Amino acid sequence: MRPDRLNPLFVAADSLKGVGPGLARPLERLGLTRVRDFIYHLPDRFVERRAVADLDAASVGENIVVALTPVEYRASAGRGPFRVLASDAAGNICAITYFGRASYSGKKQLPLGEKRWIAGRLDQFGQMLQIVHPDHVAEESATALGQLVEPVYPLSEGLTQGRIAPLIQQALATVPELPEWIEPGLFDRMQWPAWRDALELAHRGEHGQARDRLAYDELLANSLALMLVRNANRARSGSPLLGDGHLRARVQLPFALTGAQKRSIAEIEGNMAQGSPMLRLLQGDVGSGKTVVALEAMLIAVEVGAQAALLAPTEILARQHHETLKRMAAGTGVEIALLTGRDKGKARESILMGLHDGSIGIVVGTHAIFQDAVQYKNLALVVIDEQHRFGVGQRLMLAQKGKRTPHCLAMTATPIPRTLTLAQYGEMDVSKLDEMPPGRQPIDTRVVAVERMGDVVDAIGRHLEGGQQAYWVCPMVRELESEDIAAAEARFAELKLRFGDAVVLVHGQLRPEAKDAAMERFVRGDARLLVATTVIEVGVDVPNATLMVIEQAERFGLAQLHQLRGRVGRGSAASTCLLLRGNVLSETAKRRLALMRETQDGFRIAEEDLELRGGGELLGTRQSGDTPFRVASLEQIQKLLPLAHDDARLLIERASQSQESGLTGERGEAARLLLYLFERDWGVQLLRGG
Ligand code: ADP
Ligand code: MG
Repeated sequence: MRPDRLNPLFVAADSLKGVGPGLARPLERLGLTRVRDFIYHLPDRFVERRAVADLDAASVGENIVVALTPVEYRASAGRGPFRVLASDAAGNICAITYFGRASYSGKKQLPLGEKRWIAGRLDQFGQMLQIVHPDHVAEESATALGQLVEPVYPLSEGLTQGRIAPLIQQALATVPELPEWIEPGLFDRMQWPAWRDALELAHRGEHGQARDRLAYDELLANSLALMLVRNANRARSGSPLLGDGHLRARVQLPFALTGAQKRSIAEIEGNMAQGSPMLRLLQGDVGSGKTVVALEAMLIAVEVGAQAALLAPTEILARQHHETLKRMAAGTGVEIALLTGRDKGKARESILMGLHDGSIGIVVGTHAIFQDAVQYKNLALVVIDEQHRFGVGQRLMLAQKGKRTPHCLAMTATPIPRTLTLAQYGEMDVSKLDEMPPGRQPIDTRVVAVERMGDVVDAIGRHLEGGQQAYWVCPMVRELESEDIAAAEARFAELKLRFGDAVVLVHGQLRPEAKDAAMERFVRGDARLLVATTVIEVGVDVPNATLMVIEQAERFGLAQLHQLRGRVGRGSAASTCLLLRGNVLSETAKRRLALMRETQDGFRIAEEDLELRGGGELLGTRQSGDTPFRVASLEQIQKLLPLAHDDARLLIERASQSQESGLTGERGEAARLLLYLFERDWGVQLLRGG
């Protein structure tokens, strides 16, 4: 249970004055649903203003506060701006300019002949000085002057600085005083402010130490929680599994395993032979051959008469895994079942029976395989594919499933830089597939201007005529998912005009049946061009698809582009990836695309991605799968995570030396608060559960 003193922070956002139904949506889009979220919604930057006696003392481009007296209204014809001409103390004239509906407020705020204090950016328009949409207009100087430094918050559609700032102030006013959880030595050395002060300071102005402190809190909470999970796991008893290899010997592969695959399998085998349950991450780029490693691990379980389950993030993937595994394990005689949420009636009953009586050795499926109705005779290993879609919470839930805690192997193709691996998977051991199977052809990657769309479609035509298949990826980037879907549908309709029934469309809002039907047509080769939003990102394997077009490639992140591109280049034929780009590219977008052309090494892409993003470009909204952090920036993660990690370890070691069951003493109690504050309380719950 969350400690009472934190309750005020977890009250819903609409308890703040001014949050009605209209604001709820835009706030939600920013992840602001509880008071707590507001205090951690930190400014992107600050505007600093200088108070000037008159305009002679200011320069163009500067943010100022100045007293002006409106002398004339000047409306323009049609949709033009509305201008208020105003005079300063020295007699200089400046236009205060409003566009569109803002004109009304302009007139209201600036009555002729009455002096006002105006805060805004001084610009030049032709010969005239002007301030466009002033940030503040006040009757009394004190009001405007009080805003000499003002935070600029990340916004979403429907929000303004003027609306969000007072909400954040209200939220800050509810912040309780909490005991210090940071190690005293570190706290002194860094000269960090106390938690509540740090929040105040971080919202009030540029304050590196305050920001660092808040970031450190988040990192510490994360490290602590992951380490608690790891410790609890070590203390649990699993079943040591010592397979004799009789089933693995009967697996028939049309290829030899790579060195990296052999090494990973050996690591897994060693791990599963131990008393405490395995908690291991298998990290390997798209196409590095994780599936066969998973199969070997699962067969170890079956060899000793136990069962294994493979959890996939989507039905499509579950199906594909099921087929691949059945093919590879055909010679073993092991019963491999598929169970998804769509299985009903007799078919489902018989699978449930098989899992209960143990006649099914391996089951592949979506989360349906962990519903309460599903009883295993002896589940000894859980493999989770595409780990990043599952949180630690779900991992823990799985741990409850077997009589004894099953071994867990998580697989991810998301290349994450080393620093983030620690943050994301700090509680796990890691095996790395850092070697590609031989014979892969490099993917010819090109950046093409969107004007050449016609040529691209012609190229697809030739490609399909040659008997091969292709992907066309539409971005999912707009605020509203429905608009993205509409764009994908429009593209689909266009391509259909040209290629007819050879084209299918897959996106996230299709009914599962429709999605699978389309997917299956593509996998079978009946459909030759698959138009898709990013649902194909994860795991789909169609070796005959050797061309990929990615629309608006500049809008994708590097990791995502890399994952998408991994869908081609899976067979022995040469593959091509065309990155269609728009005309307006930021510097980093250009570098991203250039890097894609330059390399196919996922680990390198991940490192450079981190650098590119750390180096300036602000992340307006947190991208999913990016980092598990909201407060800590990439730079702060690199700088502070190692410290947080060490500190967390010390805290936990001290706790276990004191023979207590968990975090005790003054600092221990404070650390518990921290875990709740950052909602890493599954760590605390583990403590209690023992
Ligand atoms: P991942 O899941 O890591 O993206 P897969 O397990 O789907 O990769 O493997 C990608 C492809 O490579 C599959 O067609 C698989 O049969 C093949 N493959 C796996 N290991 C090897 C190997 N050692 N040599 C050649 N091909 C391999
Ligand atoms: Mg895979």
